[in-house]
Amino acid sequence: MSDSTRRTFLTSVAAATAGVVGAVGTASAAKNYEYLTPVFTTSDLSVREGPGTGYARTAVADVRTGGRVFEGPESADGYDWWKVQFSGDGNDGPVTGWVAEDWLSRADFICPLTGTVTSTYWDTRDGGARYHRAVDISSGPDGGGYVVAARSGRVTVPPYDDGGYGNWLILEHDNGWETWYGHLRDFRASEGEYVERGEIIAIEGATGVGGAHLDFSVHSPSGSKLRSYYDVGESVVAGTGVPRAFF
Ligand SMILES: [Zn+2]
Repeated sequence: MSDSTRRTFLTSVAAATAGVVGAVGTASAAKNYEYLTPVFTTSDLSVREGPGTGYARTAVADVRTGGRVFEGPESADGYDWWKVQFSGDGNDGPVTGWVAEDWLSRADFICPLTGTVTSTYWDTRDGGARYHRAVDISSGPDGGGYVVAARSGRVTVPPYDDGGYGNWLILEHDNGWETWYGHLRDFRASEGEYVERGEIIAIEGATGVGGAHLDFSVHSPSGSKLRSYYDVGESVVAGTGVPRAFF
């Protein structure tokens, strides 16, 4: 994928236009986030040193940046504030700070691997003959990263895929939702096992086609693969929210 399609993920403070700047909030009941609740931004959002508009802005998390909650809420200046760790891009790595919850949404799935997004949904394959309808994440050329469950669910280990997917694993979640994990080096969960969100289920590998990476996809109850809003070059952190609401 070319650089022209790659957005700046965390923009500099000087260039920032952010959701909370200049806006006047109205206090309302805080959302019931907990420690490590996965979230994503619904607007470009100022990340601050403390819970309030008077604290310095250290970064701006672009719209649809995945994060996970560490602390909160704190009420100040008409907002409820949460301390969140956000993923970043290749230039601006993950950042942690306080944000106003008005521009946060709970994510249904968590990012399953820490690394860099190397291919995203709607990338073309086979010279444009088909689309990649998954997200590729690589921890580095040697692979070996821990792959964690994107949501609690039941493990299915299908036979090795000679068509290019290699060792792969399916998690069956509530109400017919599934997540798929391809090119695995090894498994850390077994057929029929129930795993919790964030539990290690496999080791990233290079089985099947391509170098070391994880191919991750979300499947609706009707079986269709659904888009998550990752961009090539993003530096993602396992446990942060997959940037989109699916349910
Ligand atoms: Zn892929």
